[in-house]
Amino acid sequence: MWKCPKCGRSFRNENQSHYCGKALETVDEYIMAQDEDIRSQLQSVRQALISSLPGAAEKISWSMPTYWNGHNIIHFAAQKKHIGLYPGPEAVGFFSDKLDQAGLKYSKGTIQIPYSDELPLELIAGIAEWCVKTGNHA
Ligand SMILES: [Zn+2]
Repeated sequence: MWKCPKCGRSFRNENQSHYCGKALETVDEYIMAQDEDIRSQLQSVRQALISSLPGAAEKISWSMPTYWNGHNIIHFAAQKKHIGLYPGPEAVGFFSDKLDQAGLKYSKGTIQIPYSDELPLELIAGIAEWCVKTGNHA
């Protein structure tokens, strides 16, 4: 856990990039608080998650866009150089071969998706679907 010295909010990752103003309450507010040139890419990831997670509620949890259905299923966040996708360590382990094939960096519970015009949306949707099928908790 890391607490931002400016706004006092707590985050899972040290030096998590975030908006220090009023707490963001919705994913729309979250996306609007990011740089303009990455908003459409964040929207694409958001849409891929929404369409693969029917029945899940969208909210902000741990200061990140989060999909929830009784528990947190998956989060994403705008980082400086990439979009962080947080499906939990089991999902990352299960998908490691596919992530390697796609050339994506990952570590325990976290996948780094570079900002690009060709986001791996099918893979993101596949991971989200796996999380629902297995009752995975992020
Ligand atoms: Zn802050």
